[in-house]
Amino acid sequence: MNGSGLVPVTSWFPGFSDKPLIIAGPCSAETEEQVYRTAEGISQIGRVKIFRAGIWKPRTRPHSFEGVGVKGLHWLKRIKEDFGFYTLVEVAYPKHVESCLHHKVDMVWIGARTTSNPFSVEELANALKGTDLPVLIKNPINPDLDLWIGGIERLRKNGITKLAAVHRGFYPFEKTALRNIPKWELVIELKRRIHDLPVITDPSHIAGNTKYIGSISQKALDLEMDGLMIECHINPPSALSDADQQLTPAELGLLLDNLTYREVSDYSPRRMGQLERFREQIDSIDNQLIELLSQRMNVIDKIGRYKSHNNITILQLRRWENIIATRTELGHDLGLSEQFILRILQLIHKESIQRQVEIMNRLKNKNFNPGEE
Ligand code: PEP
Ligand code: MN
Repeated sequence: MNGSGLVPVTSWFPGFSDKPLIIAGPCSAETEEQVYRTAEGISQIGRVKIFRAGIWKPRTRPHSFEGVGVKGLHWLKRIKEDFGFYTLVEVAYPKHVESCLHHKVDMVWIGARTTSNPFSVEELANALKGTDLPVLIKNPINPDLDLWIGGIERLRKNGITKLAAVHRGFYPFEKTALRNIPKWELVIELKRRIHDLPVITDPSHIAGNTKYIGSISQKALDLEMDGLMIECHINPPSALSDADQQLTPAELGLLLDNLTYREVSDYSPRRMGQLERFREQIDSIDNQLIELLSQRMNVIDKIGRYKSHNNITILQLRRWENIIATRTELGHDLGLSEQFILRILQLIHKESIQRQVEIMNRLKNKNFNPGEE
């Protein structure tokens, strides 16, 4: 045990010295064959020790696939025996913990929705008391660091010492490219507040899409996270949950090969925390800028149709002069140079005119050739 009373990840199981710890497996166990073939593929990669699978699935809406339940635990027992994996399952109720113990599951995780509810975490912590099962606790859906730490404390006070946090990102209120906003600065603050707490990054749920998993994983390693939990399915397009974010075992192997595992980084929690906070702000502002530009172009399209129907010319010089004058003045008041605002306006104006020309041509062709479009 170290200063905070937590057992380092490398001592959780015999022969378990890998760092970063790699966890992989499907979002959900669906069939015995899917679990087996996924496990077989992952075992061929050679560096994954822990096999994850959701058996009880917390779905946003009812009537979607909610997991296969206890029969999936039998499938996991088989892949433990055949491939030597440690198995990891999500638990949300004390009865899930009982089933996991009964079927010799090696580790459990508490999902993001469950972490959000202190009653549930307390009940789970009671059920896990005295079991020696390693427990992973995902961040709550909303970026409330104290709620996450509260969950960790509930587990700690019930004697759970093999404990790690899983960073899976936070619900975005605005549309973003990523499914969940990482808010790395929050995780860095978590590490600062609980020294020696292992943190595992879940790039699959942060990304929501396979194309971002590599870069998020690399960032996690660069920030000295202790492990990665990556969703992997033998045939992702057919997956019953999270199909867009699951890698095939071959893709996972490639991804792990391409990561740079740095020995020592110049990571300083305080400096990185500040930088990350600024970068999160920039990301959010850029998203808003792009969304606003898209909204502006939607209105431009409407104007194009209106002008076409009413036979008005595209370029309205007086209007354009007025836009330049009012926007550069506003920019000036907000500390932005006239040149800068003018260049941006010219770009936007050029694109706006281009769109209107296209719309007018399309409508003209439609009038000449009714039935097209
Ligand atoms: C999962 O890991 O499949 C899952 C349901 O995750 P989360 O709780 O992070 O949404
Ligand atoms: Mn999932």
